[in-house]
Amino acid sequence: MTPSTLVLRDAAFGYADRRVVAGVSLTVEPGDVVALLGPNGSGKSTIVRGVLGLAEHLGGEVEVLGTPLAQLSDRTSIGYVPQHHSLSTSVSATVREVVACGRLPHRPWWRRAGAEDRRLVDEAIETVGLTDRAREEVSHLSGGQQRRVLIARALAAQPSVLLMDEPTAGVDTANQHILADVLGRLAATGTTMLIVTHELDAVRDIVSRVVCVSAGHIDFDGTSAEYALHTSAHAIGSDHHHIDEDVVRVPSTPPGSGPLDSATTRSTA
Ligand code: ADP
Repeated sequence: MTPSTLVLRDAAFGYADRRVVAGVSLTVEPGDVVALLGPNGSGKSTIVRGVLGLAEHLGGEVEVLGTPLAQLSDRTSIGYVPQHHSLSTSVSATVREVVACGRLPHRPWWRRAGAEDRRLVDEAIETVGLTDRAREEVSHLSGGQQRRVLIARALAAQPSVLLMDEPTAGVDTANQHILADVLGRLAATGTTMLIVTHELDAVRDIVSRVVCVSAGHIDFDGTSAEYALHTSAHAIGSDHHHIDEDVVRVPSTPPGSGPLDSATTRSTA
């Protein structure tokens, strides 16, 4: 039986022993495209960084392809596209060179790239629609194009799951559409993805499931259709019945404190 791609059971993650998210239970099956949705500061990136081993795992269980996180010796099965890209303008590198870095974890440092490496790099560049820019310096590309370079770098490593942090944020509308098309193509070919986003619009047509994070907890997990019902029911409820409650729910997080430190009431709508 194929193991689930990701399983989190009552997981907690944070920094320097301080819990930022807790009670996180979430399963991602092969082929799922899951939006991890929530306001800024709610803890979405911390969940992703926790799975990557970049935030501390402070409780509960995390399994990647059936292997507990602590026993995971090879993390090449997890592809990561960071939110703040780090394609330095001071280092000269072409699109192809950056994408080829995605192959490095798959071979010892002393072995040169082979035909299969080159094929996978070309394929990844084509998937993100940058074949005609492959020989250009990445620093000459727009922010949206650089984001596509990073997606291609992650794809070249042939991960089992792609974790993407706000892939469409901070780019203009035209580039958002191009990025959404790229993600749509990946979804159509069965790529498993967990997409962190603070607004669903750009990826609404791509995702099969929506998981909402609120103040360090998960407060909704369902299909896109169920999410649409959930939000419309919540909107009606807010308009007619829960106005005072919603006012109480407005986060009042003081500077420097995390979502779990807030006295904010969790949304249960
Ligand atoms: P989101 O992705 O939903 O915007 P984050 O997971 O980035 O939220 O941040 C949630 C909280 O985690 C922040 O309010 C901040 O207090 C804390 N946090 C994030 N990154 C770090 C870090 N590197 N070190 C310490 N605390 C952090």
